[in-house]
Amino acid sequence: MTDNASAAAAPRSLLDLAFVELEREFVADGVSPLHARALWRALHHGLRRDFSDTPDLLPPLARWVAEHVGEGQRFFIEAPEQTADIASRDGLTRKFLLRLGDGQTIETVVMGFKGRHTACLSTQAGCAMGCVFCATGQMGFVRHLRPGEIVAQVRHAQLALRATGDGLRNLVLMGMGEPLHNYDAVMTALEIISDRRGLNIAPSKITISTVGVVPGILQLAAERRPYHLAVSLHGATEEERSALVPASRRWPLGDLMAACRTYSAQTGRRIFFEWTLIAGANDSPAQAQRLTTLLAGLDAHVNLIPLNPTGGFVGAATQAGAAAAFQRVLQEAGIPSTIRQRRGIDVAAGCGQLRAERTRSESLARSAS
Ligand code: SAH
Ligand code: SF4
Repeated sequence: MTDNASAAAAPRSLLDLAFVELEREFVADGVSPLHARALWRALHHGLRRDFSDTPDLLPPLARWVAEHVGEGQRFFIEAPEQTADIASRDGLTRKFLLRLGDGQTIETVVMGFKGRHTACLSTQAGCAMGCVFCATGQMGFVRHLRPGEIVAQVRHAQLALRATGDGLRNLVLMGMGEPLHNYDAVMTALEIISDRRGLNIAPSKITISTVGVVPGILQLAAERRPYHLAVSLHGATEEERSALVPASRRWPLGDLMAACRTYSAQTGRRIFFEWTLIAGANDSPAQAQRLTTLLAGLDAHVNLIPLNPTGGFVGAATQAGAAAAFQRVLQEAGIPSTIRQRRGIDVAAGCGQLRAERTRSESLARSAS
């Protein structure tokens, strides 16, 4: 038997709601949905955390807010607590560690120059995919993030930049977690983030990075989602890839490349391929050659990222000379590529590394006390 008195719905984050859901809430409460626009603007453009000092809300909206938003009410506005804010020595990377409502911590990174900042967002606490070189993979899966927890990271980054008179231009979903393993929440978050009435980050400035979740890639194409796609490859044969990326056993390389070709044909969009360069593992000219065969005829751009060393993986970054040789092979095959700087390595810039370090030092401190 259910206890009706305690069956009251748990409070929801206002940041979880897409615009149409907010309108629906208003209709259900007998408030004109026309008020959704003003609330949306205050929330996602004004980046408000409460509305007590927002005199320009019309009376019906002000009443709805007073009745439904805040401590102990139906809705709350989340603002994860910042537990670390670390800048790299070169000043180009800033990493935030944010504590969510249940105590989980996630990382959000802001990098780049004035007027050209990119935020790197997390989509899960931990990750189930287990890539051997990745600090997030090494910690395992904890839980999916809600849309509001993804939106809150953009708000956090915007507020931090706004304080210096700057703003965000690009977003990459390359922080902790696998975005296509949390498909629905990520899509809702991106709708909210790209809405022109609010945060207004254009879909053409947003990149989703996936380990290669084949059904998710096909769904992005079928739904005509307007974002860029990056696929983490790291190996050009099934054997070499699945040694680094265990998820490749579930979605084999052949299926993945077929999905990429379908995506490319259906969207007409270039696909970015990520390749973490690990000395002696996947950085030889012969391996580069196999990559060119795999990508033949596909509109592709390869991002070569020298490994960021992590605690749980014995492996070293490819040296500059070998990286350049790898890139030359791609160049000769007419495949564009970029070697990404290991910028901000001093702030543990690899995904999940800061949280992993903090957790390690906290448990060391605990065991020492
Ligand atoms: N789960 C998604 C997005 C998050 S990881 C994905 O795997 O694509 C973002 C990128 O960082 C991926 O290309 C991943 O392979 C890479 N990466 C993770 N750990 C790394 C490390 N220690 N050094 C270099 N690149 C790393
Ligand atoms: Fe997950 Fe991406 Fe890390 Fe792999 S690289 S474990 S998919 S976050």
